[in-house]
Amino acid sequence: MIRPIVMHPDARLRQLCPPVFTVDDALRELAADMFDTLYDAQGRGLAAPQVGESVRLFIMDATWKAGEANPMVFVNPEILSRSAEVQTNEEGCLSIPDMPVLVVRPLRIEVMWLDETGAQQRGAFEGFEAACICHEIDHLDGKLILDHEVAA
Ligand code: ZN
Repeated sequence: MIRPIVMHPDARLRQLCPPVFTVDDALRELAADMFDTLYDAQGRGLAAPQVGESVRLFIMDATWKAGEANPMVFVNPEILSRSAEVQTNEEGCLSIPDMPVLVVRPLRIEVMWLDETGAQQRGAFEGFEAACICHEIDHLDGKLILDHEVAA
């Protein structure tokens, strides 16, 4: 089910989201709704507060636009390490349409999270995926691309 996307400057985008306690059917249903919403909006990442749910959950599909769907669910994500090497990309946000911002992110990150079955996962990401994960975790902390210092 496609849900309406919460738009900046809605205060719900500024909340610190609390952790998920149980990965259950209700949470999986929320994640499924978020994928419907993400694909409908032509995005590659979406965080729960962007559909009005204040929990530490985001979804990502970095490659579906290239014809290869790779839906990933991240519950209670935590960044374990960040490379000193950085990347600068123009990032968009479905909650802030048509206002891309240049954002500096680590080039590589290591992340720990729970998947949609509640199993603990750990992985290394780089490039676009690393930037996307940082962007979505920012949402869970009430932070938006507008808060990042614009690169010169
Ligand atoms: Zn965003």
